[in-house]
Amino acid sequence: FSSVELTQHYLQRIAALDGRYNSYISVTTEQALAQAKVADQAIASGNAGPLTGVPIAHKDIFCTEGVRTSCGSKMLDNFLPPYNATVVEKFNNEGIVTLGKTNMDEFAMGSTNESSFYGASKNPWDTNMIPGGSSGGSAAAVAALLAPAATGTDTGGSIRQPAAMCGITGLKPTYGRVSRFGMIAFASSLDQGGPMTRTAEDAAILLNAMAGVDYKDSTSLEVPTEDYTVKLNQPLSGLRIGLPKEYFNAAGLNPAVAESVRQAIKVYESLGATVKEISLGNTELAIPAYYVIAPAEASTNLSRFDGVRYGHRCDNPVDLEDLYTRSRAEGFGPEVQRRILIGSYVLSAGFYDAYYRKAQQIRRLIKDDFVSAFNDVDVIMSPTAPNPAFKIGEMSDDPVTMYAEDIFTIAVNMAGLPGMSIPCGNVDGLPVGLQLIGNYLAESQLLNCAHMFQ
Ligand code: GLN
Repeated sequence: FSSVELTQHYLQRIAALDGRYNSYISVTTEQALAQAKVADQAIASGNAGPLTGVPIAHKDIFCTEGVRTSCGSKMLDNFLPPYNATVVEKFNNEGIVTLGKTNMDEFAMGSTNESSFYGASKNPWDTNMIPGGSSGGSAAAVAALLAPAATGTDTGGSIRQPAAMCGITGLKPTYGRVSRFGMIAFASSLDQGGPMTRTAEDAAILLNAMAGVDYKDSTSLEVPTEDYTVKLNQPLSGLRIGLPKEYFNAAGLNPAVAESVRQAIKVYESLGATVKEISLGNTELAIPAYYVIAPAEASTNLSRFDGVRYGHRCDNPVDLEDLYTRSRAEGFGPEVQRRILIGSYVLSAGFYDAYYRKAQQIRRLIKDDFVSAFNDVDVIMSPTAPNPAFKIGEMSDDPVTMYAEDIFTIAVNMAGLPGMSIPCGNVDGLPVGLQLIGNYLAESQLLNCAHMFQ
């Protein structure tokens, strides 16, 4: 079949079914069909690459030229970027077709999708349940076969946790492996884009198209890219797996989730891996430190949305102060406002040393824990999240409990390491994710570990 037929197939599924899942904020029908036509011409003339004509969806945090990029916020409800994010540009150059832009927590702040201005996306396994977040729309779209794959971003777990909850594969690469240019910034020292797919092999193919140095992103890593599919199918005999005791003993860990993950680890042992308990001693400090660093960076990143440079502008401002205040009060939802307030507080004169500097010191200890663990093991495994998906509305008035759900994913961002989530079982019909954490730039090895399990 042609790319036009394939694209039409997905567009028809989206039109028929996305009323149930709310996984897309925008569907770019005409542009998708035009891209598919060009892809078919490239295929006919022998100029096709492995991804030419393949349709995907982008999280609505990636700037798409001339196509609304809302970041899940009223603030950017009418924002038409004048340029493409590097990831979008790279995909376009591969001949990839963009089906649309997926739903997300507002400015990627959340773990449930409920903070989206466009309403929560639903978990395709049970539409009363959250799909996870913040890349929940991407996860739901892939799980419901409304896109073969999608992009996501992960600041504290937002690729891995929704992948776990929707039963798909998600990869957060090493910090700096994928360009952040044109990816609307939440917490710049933690944000990283990556693929959300049905299999590790698909993730490897997409990472090939995403990764690489980009001089428009000063934190992008100047290391050569590799073909991430080459090391798939390598035997796992001798692989040393570390199981962090602080993760498996965590108070909030659902015993059925833990059991499902232990069964998956047995599969690795049967493939020749050895398992050893390790300690990541500063685990309990990861969430408190993250909720200083991430809001601090967010409060500065989001200062550009002032109704003048970017974003929603209130009606009839009486003066500049009123313009800023009302535009921001009307444009940002409650979770975003909460983070801006926390971030401004921890950065303010007199509090900086007590909070921000302290959190940065803790961040270093968390990183050192991983560095020393990787002296003894090749890959660290754990549950991706302590619980399967929960009901929409269940945690919406309890942010602190919701923050605690990110216990297994956040430290990975603090250290800048690559992490993956792959489906490993289910609890009461809801998917459970196995998290694999690798050493810096060990994406190939992680993808192979995931692929051999699948
Ligand atoms: N749930 C975390 C938060 O709310 C992580 C979000 C993310 O990775 N974008 O900050």
